[in-house]
Amino acid sequence: MPYADPERKRQYNASYRAAHREELAVYVAAWRAANPDRCAGYRVNWAAANPGKAAATTAAWRDAHPGYAAAYHAANAAAIRKRHMATDRARYVADPAPFYANNRKRRARQFGAAGTNSAADLKARWAMWGDRCWMCGDQATATDHFKALSRGGSNWPANLRPICQPCNSRKGVGVGSNALTGPARASPSAPLR
Ligand SMILES: [Zn+2]
Repeated sequence: MPYADPERKRQYNASYRAAHREELAVYVAAWRAANPDRCAGYRVNWAAANPGKAAATTAAWRDAHPGYAAAYHAANAAAIRKRHMATDRARYVADPAPFYANNRKRRARQFGAAGTNSAADLKARWAMWGDRCWMCGDQATATDHFKALSRGGSNWPANLRPICQPCNSRKGVGVGSNALTGPARASPSAPLR
């Protein structure tokens, strides 16, 4: 029955839905099962467009189903870990800087080291050394703690220098050039070999 008044139509529809909740749910479930392609991505797209609402409905559902999430994670731990690793890997390939920053933070915590550094701090330290190994002048591939964390070195930018992998391996946990047999660059302005 058509309504000229949209507000009356809205009220009629609302009361109809309230009075036929269960049979409508069956109908909707059947439609969804018959049209998986039209449902795919709907919730994901909606959640991306309504982040606040999506978080609230997810939280409400979790509250209404205690233990479900924990059981799901326990039953699918391997698959979930694999998915997270793939996601992390893609992020790392796109931009490794935050991963390096996290590694430095974690190691600093392990040794109770003082100091923090940001990705911008690190970039500045690398630029200071021309993005080259502070020891041999080759292209740097890692960030070195000049004084090793395990020997009380800090995580402040001043203790960080770019280093190449061979020098990093030779240096080990030594302090500065003391652990080296070969000469090291004494300062950023020292000539490259
Ligand atoms: Zn080197």
